[in-house]
Amino acid sequence: MRQIFLLILLFIVGQWLVKALRRHDAQTAQRTGKDANGTSGGARPADTPHLAEPMIRCVECGVHAPKSDSVVVAGQLFCCAAHAQRHGARPAGRDAR
Ligand SMILES: [Zn+2]
Repeated sequence: MRQIFLLILLFIVGQWLVKALRRHDAQTAQRTGKDANGTSGGARPADTPHLAEPMIRCVECGVHAPKSDSVVVAGQLFCCAAHAQRHGARPAGRDAR
């Protein structure tokens, strides 16, 4: 009877140890993750503006282009100045799709 009691106690202690180890691992992982995020986020916000850049759809050809490269004419977005000119030169009624 005493051996069973000891076995149960060992089992509980083992479970507690595993939990403690996992908690420790998670804490270290969180710490390293925070460090990596902090350095990457604070050091180079200027290096990665292209990833967060919104895309626009050209009214003339339908191509998606970065907003910084787009041309805005009369509130409409174009991929390039040539398309803006072409769209402006064309009568508005014929262009409707
Ligand atoms: Zn275009």
